[in-house]
Amino acid sequence: MSLSLSESQIRNLKQALESSRIPFRSEVRLSIHSSFKIGGICPVVVEPESSEQILEALFIFRKLEISWKILGGGSNLLISDHPDNFVTLRLSGKFKEFESLGNGKFHIGAATNTTPVFRQISQLGYTGAEFLSTIPGWTGGAVIQNAGCYGGELFDLIQNVEFLRDEKLFIRKPSEIKHGYRSTEFLTEKDSIILGIEILLKKGDIEEIEMSLKEKRDRRNSSQPENKKSAGSVFKNPKIFDENGKEIKAWELIDKAGLRGEMKGGAQISPDHCNFIVNLGTATASDVNYLINLTLDKVYQQSGIHLNREIEYFGDIS
Ligand SMILES: Cc1cc2nc3c(=O)[nH]c(=O)nc-3n(C[C@H](O)[C@H](O)[C@H](O)COP(=O)(O)OP(=O)(O)OC[C@H]3O[C@@H](n4cnc5c(N)ncnc54)[C@H](O)[C@@H]3O)c2cc1C
Repeated sequence: MSLSLSESQIRNLKQALESSRIPFRSEVRLSIHSSFKIGGICPVVVEPESSEQILEALFIFRKLEISWKILGGGSNLLISDHPDNFVTLRLSGKFKEFESLGNGKFHIGAATNTTPVFRQISQLGYTGAEFLSTIPGWTGGAVIQNAGCYGGELFDLIQNVEFLRDEKLFIRKPSEIKHGYRSTEFLTEKDSIILGIEILLKKGDIEEIEMSLKEKRDRRNSSQPENKKSAGSVFKNPKIFDENGKEIKAWELIDKAGLRGEMKGGAQISPDHCNFIVNLGTATASDVNYLINLTLDKVYQQSGIHLNREIEYFGDIS
């Protein structure tokens, strides 16, 4: 664990951000940006509105030897109870916009909300992205883990990803980016900052699109714990098949290990969908971490299968 940022680091950071006119907020409880509603106070959340401001902010962080992490919608994260040894970057301004480039091409900023943006684009009469209208979070976060559901994944639609790495701008096609099931090279290249994507969709029949949007929304509502504070599926499906060729799902392994409904503090393995952990109101990151480790151990003991986490940790958690 690294030390909290010092008072002088924070003071110098705020001065530098102010003189560069980069928006920021102080002493932000990160639980407000987490679908789990878990997360302690981060000394500074920096909200750059353009690529120039991001580069300037990165320069300031480097000069002051301050580490940083980027947060999107916070719907795939377990945020530390003490996120005080780094600053949080959260894109704003023009990154919250999307635009049509004509002929089914759209540019979508990394800080757009996935659900409404993909619903709006679908309702313009373009098909292929309806599944994304059910996924919470922001588009940048969806790129990072190649978000998907119901047989579709974001990388199926992407023409280009625009990102900063080592403070240089890249525009790459999906074939030039390592990606797979709920993973991309961006998960390991932690210095990459997704700025936006370009996607290509086909023209479709508006009634069929509306039906598809509704079908996916209904499917989502019937299969997930309603109005619960969670970060979606905690573990990836292990991509293992039984002797009849049927895929073994992570939730089945958790259920067989007897963990449905298991509790620690204010956190619970959902009784409705046991690949979800829910915050019953007072959960800490440490409670959720306990249940995650318990699941990893018990599932391995019971089935010999190692599960891998889908949700990521943001800051130190033990
Ligand atoms: C109820 C529920 C249901 C869900 N269902 C699904 C589902 O069906 N399919 C699915 O794939 N996911 C699902 N998720 C998980 C989550 O919604 C997606 O993974 C989402 O795309 C994450 O986006 P985010 O903006 O919230 O990312 P965050 O949680 O904020 O961040 C995730 C990771 O991306 C990084 N990151 C965020 N923005 C950027 C950026 N601009 N540049 C670089 N790195 C960045 C963060 O540092 C972090 O490492 C679900 C979550 C919930 C709560």
